[in-house]
Order: sequence, then structure tokens, then C-alpha cells
Amino acid sequence: MSLSADLREQVRRRANCACEFCGISEVDVGSLLTIDHFQPKSKGGLDDVSNLIYACAACNQFKQSYWPKTDAAPKLWNPREQSGSQHFVEQKDGELTALTPTGAFTIKRLRLNRGQLVAARQRRRQQAEAVQLLQRYQETALWLAQANRQLSDLAMEQQELLKEQRELLRLLLRRLNS
Ligand SMILES: [Zn+2]
Repeated sequence: MSLSADLREQVRRRANCACEFCGISEVDVGSLLTIDHFQPKSKGGLDDVSNLIYACAACNQFKQSYWPKTDAAPKLWNPREQSGSQHFVEQKDGELTALTPTGAFTIKRLRLNRGQLVAARQRRRQQAEAVQLLQRYQETALWLAQANRQLSDLAMEQQELLKEQRELLRLLLRRLNS
């Protein structure tokens, strides 16, 4: 039996419309993503939200119906149960490196270092850096505007002082001349 539209939508929203394995979003892909049974139906997996994962077509395809045959067989990372940061770390060049055997197996099986994903991570990193630069620029501009205001206040005070000084001088001269 296929999944109900409600169940699909629930899984999709829970994942913020992005692949739970690789992070690519519907917007990146330009279409809806697929629903993966973490424990494949053919291996006894249920149509339950706890077993469903929003996955891009590529991750789903690479995963296929993998399920460890024995306890000793390598396990795939289950985004339902652990965060990715427990198993991988992203390098500056956009490549993922594994922190655990599960991480290493998942990177290999799902090809999480495929060129397009690495490029997408690099782009995300560059965008974050650009936002940071922009924020720093805005802070500097604000600080400069403040400094300018203080300078013009000072200049005005100085003018007032000069005016007073001139007035005093005139009074003094008048007194001397009288
Ligand atoms: Zn994916």
C-alpha cells in the first residue's frame, strides 16, 4: 500500500523540505524529494513515521534497500535516531569526513562526498561568509555614522565657544576704549 498524502506531508515538513541524509533541499533540486523507508519494507520495515525519512532521489537510490544482515554488518546512519554531527564533520573544502564506522559506511554507501554535494556545501559556506562580511560592513558603517555625529557635535560646540570668545573680546575692547 502506498503512503497517504498526509503521512508524506508530515515527513516532508518534519525534514524542513530537505534531504535528511545529505541536506539538499527541494529548492536546490527543483522538485519534491522522495520518502525512504529506513528499514526497507522488503526487510520488515513499517509505514510508520519513525521509519520514514525524507530523502533526495540520489540518496534514496544509493541507499537502495540496504539493511544489515547481521549485527556485525555495517550500519547506516539513521537521521531519526542520531544527529549527523555524531558521525561526520564537514571540512573547509566541503568534504565530509567520518567520525565513526557508521559515518564512514554512510558516506561511502550514499556517496555523501559526490561532487555536486561538495559543491553545494562550498556554496553554502561562501554564502555564510558573505553574510558575515556584510554584517561586519554594516556594523562598521553604523560606527562611522556615530563617530561622524560626535565629530559634528564637537564642531558645533567649538563654534559656540568661538562665538563666546569673540563676544568676550569685544566687551573687553569696549571696556578698554571707554
Ligand atoms: Zn540526499
